[in-house]
Amino acid sequence: MVDADQTFVIVGGGLAGAKAAETLRAEGFTGRVILICDERDHPYERPPLSKGYLLGKDTRESVFVHEPAWYAQNDIELHLGQTVDAIDRAAKTVRFGDDGTLAHYDKLLLATGAEPRRLDVPGTDLAGVHHLRRLAHAERLKGVLTALGRDNGHLVIAGGGWIGLEVAAAAREYGAEVTVVEPEPTPLHGVLGPELGTLFADLHRDHGVRFHFGARLTEIVGQDGMVLAARTDDGEEHPAHDVLAAIGAAPRTALAEAAGLELADRAHGGGVAVDASLRTSDPDVYAAGDVASFPHGLFDTRLRVEHWANALNGGPAAARAMLGKAVAYDRVPYFFSDQYDLGMEYSGWAPPGSYDQVVIRGDAGKREFIAFWVKEGRVLAGMNVNVWDVTEPIQKLIASRTAVDTEALADPHVPLESLGS
Ligand SMILES: Cc1cc2nc3c(=O)[nH]c(=O)nc-3n(C[C@H](O)[C@H](O)[C@H](O)COP(=O)(O)OP(=O)(O)OC[C@H]3O[C@@H](n4cnc5c(N)ncnc54)[C@H](O)[C@@H]3O)c2cc1C
Repeated sequence: MVDADQTFVIVGGGLAGAKAAETLRAEGFTGRVILICDERDHPYERPPLSKGYLLGKDTRESVFVHEPAWYAQNDIELHLGQTVDAIDRAAKTVRFGDDGTLAHYDKLLLATGAEPRRLDVPGTDLAGVHHLRRLAHAERLKGVLTALGRDNGHLVIAGGGWIGLEVAAAAREYGAEVTVVEPEPTPLHGVLGPELGTLFADLHRDHGVRFHFGARLTEIVGQDGMVLAARTDDGEEHPAHDVLAAIGAAPRTALAEAAGLELADRAHGGGVAVDASLRTSDPDVYAAGDVASFPHGLFDTRLRVEHWANALNGGPAAARAMLGKAVAYDRVPYFFSDQYDLGMEYSGWAPPGSYDQVVIRGDAGKREFIAFWVKEGRVLAGMNVNVWDVTEPIQKLIASRTAVDTEALADPHVPLESLGS
């Protein structure tokens, strides 16, 4: 069968789905490309939703992956505001939209992303309880932060992860009072461990954020539909006018599961299980982005990576694999964050328990340094904070899998490029 007779369907119009469509055309695929997404907006990037867009510094237009006209120009059949509710793998069809339209596929890509976890506590349905995943959520939150800043209002954030902290920074810039409730002893504990989590706690305290560590929200107290306070399991009550639930995201696997595709173990983050070419347990179905769990050779484990770069690169990698090209997706995981005047990039993977030492190169007190998470001399991860253009040598160190001299690693006068080879 030639390309022109083939139909490739992409479910999910986030960054992974949009970049996969772009790659199919860039690689010369001449068949039909159908991109179906349940959101009404054209595919957009989410990082600005908790940073520049939330702060009113980035325009709405700037968040879109492509201009709206790009889809027609590239002959991408875009179905927005339509949910795919079933995959028939025997008939090779997906069903979508209110009228149950069937679309045949030769190859299918699942790029369904993730959705925010909900707080399972009394009061979670009050109007002042928010989540942040979609453009509409960010628009609403922008209005909320503006009002809180104007009225000296209180925002309680459940969860001291990346989104919780970025919104805390934005809320402080608006002038709102902010309390972050986090069960772990530091923010970002599961990613950075306590050593660097403390640095982020200090950064936020310096900007007036209050933390309540070692506690969980147990109730959001309301009156006449309005939020009044947030209670924690240690009996404390924090004044609140609004609450943001930033307690993580769950991969959107329902469609894959109902279709009988293999899922990854929850202990490995769950998600749709794919091989190194991003192919699922069905050879004609692929998955990429937040929803995919792939085996990572560098860390000898399955990873499900909920970050921008993984959608940016994973969508195209899956598209090439769908075209029959040899693909081994082994990128070093990478993400970035901006909070106040701190910008950082993190490469690698080193959750607590996986490393035996954190090596600091530079001045942590001035928040200008690189941190390395090291196990038996081998660099597992590196985070540059307000230090730039070092991602490549950091990623090379991680990929080299060789032990380095940790004294030299800590010494800013020793070029990173000279280590690990
Ligand atoms: C507020 C916020 C800030 C972030 N900031 C950063 C950051 O600073 N740095 C970083 O590295 N990462 C960041 N991320 C993470 C990054 O945005 C995600 O990793 C990325 O969006 C994943 O892209 P994706 O295409 O896999 O999934 P998504 O962006 O979730 O897109 C999936 C799309 O599929 C749709 N969909 C799902 N199921 C169906 C269905 N059955 N039928 C039709 N459509 C469906 C969804 O509605 C969604 O539109 C941030 C995320 C958020 C929410």
